[in-house]
Amino acid sequence: MKVLVVGGAGYIGSHMVKLLGQQGCDVTVFDNLSFGHADAVLFGDLIVGDLADTEALEQLFETRIFDVVMHFASSILVGESVADPAKYYRNNFANTQNLLDVMVKHDVKHFIFSSTAAIFGEPQYTPIDEQHPKQPINPYGRSKWMVEQMLEDYDRAYGLKSICLRYFNACGADPDGELGERHDPETHLIPLVLQVATGQRRDITVFGQDYDTQDGTCIRDYIHVSDLSMAHWLAIQELFRYNQSKRFNLGNGQGFSVQQVIDICKDVTQKNIPVIYGARREGDPDVLVADARLAQNELGWQPKYPALQSIIEHAWQWEKKVHGK
Ligand code: UDP
Repeated sequence: MKVLVVGGAGYIGSHMVKLLGQQGCDVTVFDNLSFGHADAVLFGDLIVGDLADTEALEQLFETRIFDVVMHFASSILVGESVADPAKYYRNNFANTQNLLDVMVKHDVKHFIFSSTAAIFGEPQYTPIDEQHPKQPINPYGRSKWMVEQMLEDYDRAYGLKSICLRYFNACGADPDGELGERHDPETHLIPLVLQVATGQRRDITVFGQDYDTQDGTCIRDYIHVSDLSMAHWLAIQELFRYNQSKRFNLGNGQGFSVQQVIDICKDVTQKNIPVIYGARREGDPDVLVADARLAQNELGWQPKYPALQSIIEHAWQWEKKVHGK
């Protein structure tokens, strides 16, 4: 199978490329390397290019044949999306349209899209299933939801079939220790806490202690990046089997508070982790937990590393490799 992975040099994309390579796929990665790393592409060809460059896209599709396109490249910071929405609508929406248009032109009709729990906005009930109302509360979430809606229209009009996967909190690292999270700047909780453990940072600030949860800190559904990759692989099979557009929420269905995450990190690393209790971060709901039963039932997806302890162990293995200690 010939697969184009846009954003394949990034965190989740690079884990996907490894899985595709192991499954014997012919992989092409298209990535502008603005945040990705060339050395994270363990299989296939890396073509450095930007989705804004329609000529580069045209050339890519003229010279190569693809059975399916996977799209991981996007801007992901909620706060930045509020300060600079233009960047989000351009990178996440307009550039995705460039990709879809070149696909339609070259008759490539299968697409896997990295969506997010942020499309739901403030949870109206928990856990969140696929039917939950979509009322994103920031430009990041809106840009992703707009793509999902565009995909429905492209299916109706052009027969482009897509599977959108809405990630809850992607985390962890390749169990073999070859890949992991290398965001710059890093904003995600688990790598930040682990960077305190390696001495890269002095402390971790907990954003808010007055949420409506048992210990007052936010609850999230942390899902291992290798389990996410496997869900994508199963989604490709689903797309070829039924040729129907579908949407799935991906999480473990179990929530952990920020405090619990820090406690497990202490346990795994056996390091002292100084904690500062700070103000809330804007736009953080109390609880975000996925109802991922649809993915389990329809895709046959079963997370291999649902325990937060193993997720953090893999992330720690990676963090030690990158930052020493
Ligand atoms: N968080 C925190 N301190 C940090 C980074 C994150 O308390 O330095 C909290 C954040 O408020 C949220 C949870 O950790 O409740 C997970 O945040 P992260 O940025 O990792 O993922 P997000 O939920 O934003 O996708």
